[in-house]
Amino acid sequence: MSITSFHPTPRTLMGPGPSDVSPRVLEALSRPTIGHLDPEFVGMMDEVKAMLQYAFQTKNEFTIAVSAPGSAGMETCFVNLVEPGEKVIVCVNGVFGGRMVENVERLGATAIIVNDDWGKPVDPQKVETALEQNPDAKFVAFVHAETSTGALSDAKLLCQIAQKHNALTIVDAVTSLGGVELRVDEWGIDAIYSGSQKCMSCVPGISPVSFGPRAIEKLKAREGKVPSWFLDQTLVMSYWSGEGKRSYHHTAPVNSLYALHESLVMLQNEGLENAWARHKTQHEALKAGLTEMGIEFIVDEAHRLPQLNTIKIPEGVDDAAVRSTLLNEYNLEIGAGLGAFAGKAWRIGLMGYAARSENVMLCLAALKSALGK
Ligand SMILES: *Cc1c(COP(=O)(O)O)cnc(C)c1O
Repeated sequence: MSITSFHPTPRTLMGPGPSDVSPRVLEALSRPTIGHLDPEFVGMMDEVKAMLQYAFQTKNEFTIAVSAPGSAGMETCFVNLVEPGEKVIVCVNGVFGGRMVENVERLGATAIIVNDDWGKPVDPQKVETALEQNPDAKFVAFVHAETSTGALSDAKLLCQIAQKHNALTIVDAVTSLGGVELRVDEWGIDAIYSGSQKCMSCVPGISPVSFGPRAIEKLKAREGKVPSWFLDQTLVMSYWSGEGKRSYHHTAPVNSLYALHESLVMLQNEGLENAWARHKTQHEALKAGLTEMGIEFIVDEAHRLPQLNTIKIPEGVDDAAVRSTLLNEYNLEIGAGLGAFAGKAWRIGLMGYAARSENVMLCLAALKSALGK
């Protein structure tokens, strides 16, 4: 057997994630590994925290990067904040809302499910009704940008409703961070998690998380221990907290954090509002080209995610064959439909570094050719 080094074919990643990683981020990843308690590294972590506060638009002291992908960020929020027997209103309008239900139930808590059709945003009226019917509900959990369907929900309004009923909010911002407007403090989000690999132009494997004052209070008032040792934020807090106090909890993914740092520097240089505008502009360009080809979107215009375009597979077209032509002939990856949309839709991501004109042009030209137009 003679296995040699692995050299993947460079691809253009326009699916639901991972999305294109900036060359600057890849370069940062290859810088020399240093000790994770090295003062230089500790200084860099403080900068990551400050830049994450900017990306989330929050002053939350507890704003960190969990050493694992977005799913671990999700679990971090639920496992730390939700206690057995508590009621959580969970909004389900796609795959990731369903995973929130899994999290709640595995913790011995009760999920009150608010269902909306795939492709639709979370209906605020249904959330209000669920809170009225369950005045003892402690949380409202929802996905801001449903990557499985391409629908954007009104996070600001959902948070207002939760606050009116004294419920804390747990928000999935894996696909929204860096791609669409998101203001943690202004909207009063209590706990939020994201991922490095969607609109942050970074490699997969890191999950930014932020807890506001009410979430911290809830965590500190817990009756029992957090049921996951690794994700127990009372332990991780001392690892991320200020100078001199840092102690060993787990070995940080040193190089991945260099990568996240670089992607956050890029976001800071571009400006958050400009990054949101860039996603929108590229979405408009893609939409114009697709519409010209007679391809339709699944989500209503008002609730469409610019960074995740769910389109109908044209009648009589072989889903898998087209996607494999794109991959094999154009090194272009787009996403298949999930769940209710399997075989019926494609998901074209314009996330982070992938939200560029050249990607839009490549995608339109490649699709046109693969569809024989
Ligand atoms: C991708 C995604 C996740 C999970 O993130 P991973 O990095 O794959 O673990 C969670 N929620 C949403 C909305 C996502 O798009």
